[in-house]
Amino acid sequence: MKEFKIAQPQSFEQFNSLLAARKDGYYIMAGGTDLLDEIKNAIIDPEVVIDLMSISDRSPITETKDSVSICALTRVAELAESPVIQKYFAGLHQAALSLATPQLRNVGTVGGNLCQRPRCWYYRDPEVICRKKGGSRCYAFRGRNRYHAIFGGGICYIVYPSDLAPALISLNAQITISGPDGEKTMPLENFYILPQQNIRKENVLEGNQFLKEINIPLPKNGSKSIYYKFKERGTWDFAVVSAAVNGIVSAGVCKELKIVLGGVAPIPWRLKQAENFIKGKHLTEEVIRQGAKQALKDAKPLDENAYKIDLVEAVLFEAVSSIA
Ligand SMILES: Cc1cc2nc3c(=O)[nH]c(=O)nc-3n(C[C@H](O)[C@H](O)[C@H](O)COP(=O)(O)OP(=O)(O)OC[C@H]3O[C@@H](n4cnc5c(N)ncnc54)[C@H](O)[C@@H]3O)c2cc1C
Ligand code: SF4
Repeated sequence: MKEFKIAQPQSFEQFNSLLAARKDGYYIMAGGTDLLDEIKNAIIDPEVVIDLMSISDRSPITETKDSVSICALTRVAELAESPVIQKYFAGLHQAALSLATPQLRNVGTVGGNLCQRPRCWYYRDPEVICRKKGGSRCYAFRGRNRYHAIFGGGICYIVYPSDLAPALISLNAQITISGPDGEKTMPLENFYILPQQNIRKENVLEGNQFLKEINIPLPKNGSKSIYYKFKERGTWDFAVVSAAVNGIVSAGVCKELKIVLGGVAPIPWRLKQAENFIKGKHLTEEVIRQGAKQALKDAKPLDENAYKIDLVEAVLFEAVSSIA
């Protein structure tokens, strides 16, 4: 590992000035639980690491009249322990608790979780220069692809690994992106991009921008959210398939529904066809299974991951029936 410098801005203002002068070789670090792995595995070779956590003027999780705001620098453990999150957003609380280990949750941040890089084993292997790293081939396509995408692949079959992203999208979260030119807000759902749009990155952030804040509207009366994560091991693990569901069921009829899957596509994967099929109907086992089948029509599994189709159906059934 080559030596690098650490820059420690004390405020968002100083941080923005550093980003304005950002060159290749400058990297943002929050908790560092992912970034330091990327350095150790020689995937990136920074000249300067800008330490976001040296900023002291960060705000706590705050409830306003109609929303809850979360600073991107909030630790995942703080999110999981927050009484405000537990009161309004059960699905987000479950997602935060399902993530990694207590030690990693104590260090990793919400912003880092939403901006983390993919886990594809070819991408993480310093010896392999696949298409995502500037090479010409996707080694997963004809190689070992047990954990790869069944939706939205095409030129790169990563799955987006964040547990918080599907939960936050299902709750209609908005984000604030900050940079030298000011701030803008957008739905978190529009933050992620497919490899076809730009194979080298996973979100819309430009080099001199960062994710500053997440805002979640307070839930409507009667709405319920859940995060259901299927992982291979009882101890820490990334999701093989997960489902974040948020909806309203009244007198057995599904009035509102939003479903976002994790572990199946290069971005958190919204199931609009399934939502539209289920909405307005009595939430029976048959309706949920038919809804899942609608969504799975678009699935294109690789040689080793067709098992994810059955898994999506099972996870959806568990998650959607539990909001009834
Ligand atoms: C053993 C292990 C298990 C894990 N298990 C899970 C899991 O089960 N589920 C899961 O979701 N994740 C998991 N992770 C992934 C990850 O480490 C955590 O999700 C953590 O929350 C990342 O936050 P961080 O602050 O440490 O990010 P960092 O490592 O500091 O940053 C990660 C990336 O995001 C960028 N970044 C960080 N903050 C910002 C920001 N505010 N704006 C713009 N870019 C930013 C960095 O430049 C870097 O590229 C695991 C990691 C490890 C090592
Ligand atoms: S899935 Fe993407 S990251 Fe993995 S080998 Fe293929 S191009 Fe590389």
